[in-house]
Amino acid sequence: MEVYRKILQRYWGHDTFRPLQEEIIQSVAEGKDTLALMPTGGGKSITFQVPVMAHEGICIVVTPLIALMKDQVANLVKRGIKAMAVYSGLTVREIDVALDNCIYGDYKFLYVSPERLGTELFRARVAKMPVNLIVVDEAHCISQWGYDFRPSYLQISRLRELLPGIPVLALTATATPDVVDDIQEKLHFGEKNVLKKSFERENLRYIVKNTEDKTKQMLKVIRGVGGQGIVYVRNRKKTVEIADFLAKNNVAAEAYHAGMKMELRNEKQKDWSKSKTDVIVATNAFGMGIDKPDVRFVIHMDLPDSIESYFQEAGRAGRDGKVAFAVLLYNDSDKISMDRRIQVNFPSIEYVKRVYHALGSYLRVPYGGGKENVYDFNLLDFASTYKFHPLTTYSSLKILQRAGYIELTDEVNNPSRIFFITGRDELYRFQVENASFDSFIKLLLRSYSGVFSGFVPIDEEFLARKASVSRDVVYQYLKTLSRQKIIQYIPAKKTPLIVFTTERMDEGSLFISTSDYTERKKRFEKRAYYMLQYAKDSYRCRSRTLLAYFGETGAKACGTCDVCNNRNDLNLSKYEVDVIEEKIRETVKHGKVLLDELVDLLDYPPEKSLKVIRWLIDHERLVCENGNIVKYVER
Ligand code: ADP
Repeated sequence: MEVYRKILQRYWGHDTFRPLQEEIIQSVAEGKDTLALMPTGGGKSITFQVPVMAHEGICIVVTPLIALMKDQVANLVKRGIKAMAVYSGLTVREIDVALDNCIYGDYKFLYVSPERLGTELFRARVAKMPVNLIVVDEAHCISQWGYDFRPSYLQISRLRELLPGIPVLALTATATPDVVDDIQEKLHFGEKNVLKKSFERENLRYIVKNTEDKTKQMLKVIRGVGGQGIVYVRNRKKTVEIADFLAKNNVAAEAYHAGMKMELRNEKQKDWSKSKTDVIVATNAFGMGIDKPDVRFVIHMDLPDSIESYFQEAGRAGRDGKVAFAVLLYNDSDKISMDRRIQVNFPSIEYVKRVYHALGSYLRVPYGGGKENVYDFNLLDFASTYKFHPLTTYSSLKILQRAGYIELTDEVNNPSRIFFITGRDELYRFQVENASFDSFIKLLLRSYSGVFSGFVPIDEEFLARKASVSRDVVYQYLKTLSRQKIIQYIPAKKTPLIVFTTERMDEGSLFISTSDYTERKKRFEKRAYYMLQYAKDSYRCRSRTLLAYFGETGAKACGTCDVCNNRNDLNLSKYEVDVIEEKIRETVKHGKVLLDELVDLLDYPPEKSLKVIRWLIDHERLVCENGNIVKYVER
C-alpha cells in the first residue's frame, strides 16, 4: 500500500486514505472485479485514479454525465496527468484524434460516455490500447431493475470481451440488494466481490413533517437551523416562486433549474458554494458534482420518485460530519401528485411511437438511416412543433432510450477548439506568403500548446483582447485559416443532443415490448409506494427504514429522527425501547397473546413494558382484537 499512499500524496496532496478507499484499491490492484458502494462525496475517484497511476497502461472510465466527465478530466490535467474525454458532443474527427492519442500518447485516463461504446470507431481503437482497468461509474445504470437504467451500459459487457483479463471496477452510491447482484451479473464478474461501507449517516437528522402549510414550515426550518442549504421542488416555476418568497422574508435565496442558461447556473452554484447565498431552491437538476461539505439542511417540498433519489439528495447535507437536517414536508396531496406522475412517466405505447416518428421527421432522419448520428435537439421546440406535452414527450424519449433506439445527452457546453493540420514547414511558408496572418498565427501558438497534436480549446474573447480587435474579427481569421486548411476550427456550441443508436425504423418495425413496459411501470410504482410509505410512516426510525431499503438490516435506531424523538418522549432509553419491543415481537410472533398476559411474559419492569405496548398500539403496530388479544404487525 505504501506505493499507493505516495501517489496519493504526490498527485493529490492527501496524507491518508479514507475508509474503504484502501480496500477498494487493494482489490483492484489484485486484479479482482470489484463493485464498490460509496456515498457521493466519499472519494470514489481516488479509488481508481491512484492504482492506475501506479501501473503501466490506460484506464477506461465509463460515465454518463458529460459535465462531470469534463470536470474530472480538467482536474487530472491540472495535476499533470494525461486524460482525455470522448462523448457525443465532439466531432468524429476529434474523437478519431483523441482515440489515436490514447493508443500512442501514453495517456492514463480515457473517459467515455456510454453511447460511444458500441460504435465501430471506438471498438476498433480500444482493442489496440494498453488498457489496465475498466471503471464503470454510476454502475446502477446497467441494471434494468434500477431507477436509472441505460441500455447503452449493456455495451460494457461487450467491451469486456474485447479486453479479456482486464479487471472492472464498478462504482455506485445507491443500489438495492437486487441491483447489487444484477450489476455483477451484467458486468460478468469472475467472482462476486462487493465492498461497501454502511450507508448510515450518524450526523444527519431525518425529519418528516406532515403539514398543510409547507412554505411556512420550510421557512421555520431555514430560520431554525441556519447556514446554507438546499430546498428541492418538483417544477421549475416553483423554484422561482419559492426563492422569491424567501427573498421577501429576508433569506438570501436563489432559484436553480435546468431551463436556465449554463453561465447563470454556474454563477448561482458558485455563490452558494462560497456561502454568498444561503439557500438554493432547485429541481433535481441541482446537486450532481457539488462538493460543498457544510450544507446544513436539505428540505424536500415534494416527494422524490424513489428512496434512491431521496437518499442521494438528502445525503448532500452534512458531509462535514457536523449535525445537519434532512427534512421532508408531506401532506395528503402528495399521494395525488404521485399518481399523476406515474401517468406522465408512462404515456401509452401508441403515444411513444408517435413521438418517435415525429422525432424522425423533425430531425430529418431518413428511414433506414441515421445510425450513430448525433443531432442537436431542442425539446420545447420539438414538443410545440408537434403539439405534444413537454413532460410526456420527455418521458416518451426516455422510454425510447430504454428500448435502445436513441440516447439523450445532457447539455454539452463545448468551448471552441482548434487543431493545426499543417506541418511546421508548410505553416512557415504560409506565414511568409500571407503576412497579414503572421501575427495572428503567432498569437495562437504563443497562447496555446499542443495545437499540432490534437484539438485544443481556445477562447475567442481572450484572443480578441490580446490582439485588440473585435471578437468577430478573430472569428473571421479562424474561419479563413480553416478554409485554407491550416487549422481545423470548431466553434463553441451549447445544446442537448440526441444520438440515434439504431437506424430510423418505419411504422411496421418499431417495437416496444409491452411486457417490458408493464414491468418497468410496476417497478416505478413500487418505488413510488416505498417513498410514500417513508413519508406516511410514523413508527419506524427513519434511518433504519432507509438502511433496510438498501439491504442493511439490524441497524440501530438513530435516536435523532422525528420518530425516535417521539419515542424519546416515553422517557425510556433508546436501548430499552428496542429491547422491550424485541421481546414483544418474539412473544407475539407465534400467535395471539392476551394483553394482560403480555406484560408478565416480557419479564421487564411492568410500567416500562406498558408504556412501550401503549405506544405500539397507538402506532398500529400492535393490534387489539376482541378487547385484549394482540398481534404484532411486521413492516
Ligand atoms: P465522489 O466521486 O465519491 O463523489 P470525489 O472523488 O469527487 O467523490 O471526492 C470528494 C472529495 O473528497 C474531493 O474533494 C476529494 O479531493 C476529497 N477526497 C477524496 N479522497 C480523499 C482523501 N483520502 N483524503 C482527503 N480528501 C479526499
